[in-house]
Amino acid sequence: MRYQKPKGTMDILPGESEKWQYVESVAQDTFNKYRFSEIRTPIFESYEVFERSSGDTSDIVSKEMYDFKDKGDRHIALRPEGTAGVVRAYVENKLYGPEHIKPYKVWYKGPMFRYERPQSGRQRQFHQIGVEAFGSDSPELDAEIITVGLEFLNRLGIKNLKVALNSLGDPESRAAYHKALVDYFTPFKDQLSDDSKVRLEKNPLRILDSKDAEDKKIVANAPSILDYLNDASKERFEYLQSLLDDLDVNYEIDPTMVRGLDYYNHTIFEFMVTDPAFDNKEITVLAGGRYNGLVEELGGPETPGIGFGLGVERLMLLLKDEDIPSQNDLDVYLVTIGDKAERASVKILSNLRKAGFVADKDYLQRKIKAQFKTANNLNAKYTVTIGDTELENDTANVKNMATGEQVSVSLENLAEELKKIEG
Ligand code: ATP
Ligand code: MG
Repeated sequence: MRYQKPKGTMDILPGESEKWQYVESVAQDTFNKYRFSEIRTPIFESYEVFERSSGDTSDIVSKEMYDFKDKGDRHIALRPEGTAGVVRAYVENKLYGPEHIKPYKVWYKGPMFRYERPQSGRQRQFHQIGVEAFGSDSPELDAEIITVGLEFLNRLGIKNLKVALNSLGDPESRAAYHKALVDYFTPFKDQLSDDSKVRLEKNPLRILDSKDAEDKKIVANAPSILDYLNDASKERFEYLQSLLDDLDVNYEIDPTMVRGLDYYNHTIFEFMVTDPAFDNKEITVLAGGRYNGLVEELGGPETPGIGFGLGVERLMLLLKDEDIPSQNDLDVYLVTIGDKAERASVKILSNLRKAGFVADKDYLQRKIKAQFKTANNLNAKYTVTIGDTELENDTANVKNMATGEQVSVSLENLAEELKKIEG
């Protein structure tokens, strides 16, 4: 083959794209109900936006950035995740200003890019859907963010969801924990992976997230953040749990969970699901948390924030075909016999579509039998057949393709007649 798609990318073809549209429409509908508006930011930004936001010890920034110098010698990166661009837009457009209602709630969808080794479930261009809310530090908002994520997935028919929950506490708690981790890991320094040696210097919390087998053994006995939360952080975490109890949310505290961003604090969470599509292994479908320092980090005023992101490709693997309503079913397939009908069909189709019907015809001058076969293959509800006689007598033959029933109606009033038949 002459041309192939770039490594790690996918074509989303008709047949599959309907599924994507459905997921996106459920996202829009669910998020709007909670007053999240859609935000669309560029798919590329200054490299520094991501470096600042994810932190330079993150896997994303240290290994996976899809970055390049443009013709003006600017250091550009394709976005690896959604939050950084949204925060940049929040600061640049002064969305923290008094004319904007707080909390400022947005959602996004779109392609993300990471230079990873392509493998099952891991691409270089993939898609995320996410939400962010700025300007409130309230634990009730944390509960809402978790709820809106659950409602979204529930509406898509995803069952057996479990929320893994943790708290990273406030800056004071994190500083205490930071020190405890350094004290714990330092004696193991020589055994740690090279990445984790660097993390120990720069951001020891990240060692907890290491995928290295040796690191994992050492991590197993590391101190727990929950022992280092100060009273205010502990109280806040317990209060959030009581809110989730009230909402009957199925959650589990996971004190070993840390998240990629450097600026997470207090609430962090992941939604876990066990499904045959992933060999019944538990996988993360959605992940998020509170990032109260991030807006400041990107040059804005001190502003609390919380959000989540989810990988759409992974979500698609969990969707069951029967949970996806079929879309754009064909109402009418116009069958024409002869040149005159062929000419008339242009106007007839146009009128049907104006009246709201999903309608199509054969453009290949095929025989009537072949046209009916196509109508069948397209699952058309009705065929409307016209030929010379029909044109002369102002009639059209309407056939209900499911029952085989046929009626002759006025061609002039075809759209209205069809509506009558529809009932
Ligand atoms: P992992 O530990 O699997 O690398 P991550 O911590 O990099 O995950 P996040 O940055 O939290 O993942 O991204 C959120 C979601 O985006 C993931 O749960 C996953 O569904 C999806 N995702 C991340 N990277 C890729 C990729 N390269 N291809 C497809 N989906 C991805
Ligand atoms: Mg990753």
